[in-house]
Amino acid sequence: MRAIRVERLGPPDVMQLQDAPVPSPAPGEVRVRVEAVGINFADALAVAGEYLTRTRVPYTPGMEFAGIVDALGEGVQGVQVGTRVAALGGSGAMAEYATVPAAALIPVPQSLSGAQAAAFPVSYFTAYHGLKTLGRGEAGEWVLVQAAAGALGTASIQLAKALGMNVIALASTDEKLEIARTLGADVTILQDDPDRVKKVRDAAGGKGVPLILEVVGGKRFQESLDMAASRGRIIVIGNASREQANLRPVELMKRNLTVTGLWLTSLMNDAPATAEAARALAELVGSGKVVPQVGPTYALDQSVQAFEDLLNRRTTGKVIIEP
Ligand code: NDP
Repeated sequence: MRAIRVERLGPPDVMQLQDAPVPSPAPGEVRVRVEAVGINFADALAVAGEYLTRTRVPYTPGMEFAGIVDALGEGVQGVQVGTRVAALGGSGAMAEYATVPAAALIPVPQSLSGAQAAAFPVSYFTAYHGLKTLGRGEAGEWVLVQAAAGALGTASIQLAKALGMNVIALASTDEKLEIARTLGADVTILQDDPDRVKKVRDAAGGKGVPLILEVVGGKRFQESLDMAASRGRIIVIGNASREQANLRPVELMKRNLTVTGLWLTSLMNDAPATAEAARALAELVGSGKVVPQVGPTYALDQSVQAFEDLLNRRTTGKVIIEP
């Protein structure tokens, strides 16, 4: 089969398309014929060696994917060969076949296409945990969504609206803001608007925003603090700027702010939180209230281009690779 291989860490062009043996499922694993791989900012950081965990090479990237169950390892029960599944594994999905522990499979409505199913797990579980599990957002509350046309951003807008919240969306271009509006964002503001802090505070009734999903980091982190309401909750989810942010705890004291980190990988080990998110998301996706946003789609031999486009802010929705 064809698979992407990374032998040394670096920019996207360290990825190479190679021939590899079709993997056999170990006990407790399933093998999936990969239909679509969801590419996350985290995949690009992992290839660069800048992710939260150390990347061991050589390896095949790709943590999120969907496809058809093709073979079952010893002891696997309750999974049918021939059904479409999504999966959230550690790596290995940028290939024609991938193996994954059966426990890492995520049931998806069979109405979703392979690409929609691959666009679902990371962005929607993260958005749910940001808005509800950690963010404790309530219907009628304002939430600020940064990088609003991206994979996580589009998921966050849809979920927030489905949960009855009011959304302020920030993004870098008018085209991206138009996508945010189409998904239901109530207020859209260019992220480089010189008056952005005042505009965001004014939009939320002049008092600032009670809940902020922070994904940019760097000097923008200070702005998130300035945009927050008194007692505001800032959920730190990403650092797309790849710059260091400064946090002076005294500033949190003055306005009773809460800053909470969110990492989906560790939250997936929290069984009750995962079960609650899965229940809520299954209902919303099943009823069609939220629809995973498929962005540009690339072939396996265009993987370098896909990563470069994602890193250079040229994409909206979830970047998909179809082997
Ligand atoms: P996106 O599809 O949102 O793409 C990244 C977007 O970030 C860009 O399109 C761009 O939108 C925005 N951005 C802002 N500043 C920069 C910059 N300096 N350089 C590049 N992009 C920038 O990607 P994802 O949905 O995969 O991820 C979004 C963020 O959420 C990332 O930081 C990611 O690491 C994080 N994340 C974290 C998770 C967790 O478990 N903690 C899980 C999922 C995502 P614009 O042009 O509008 O500014």
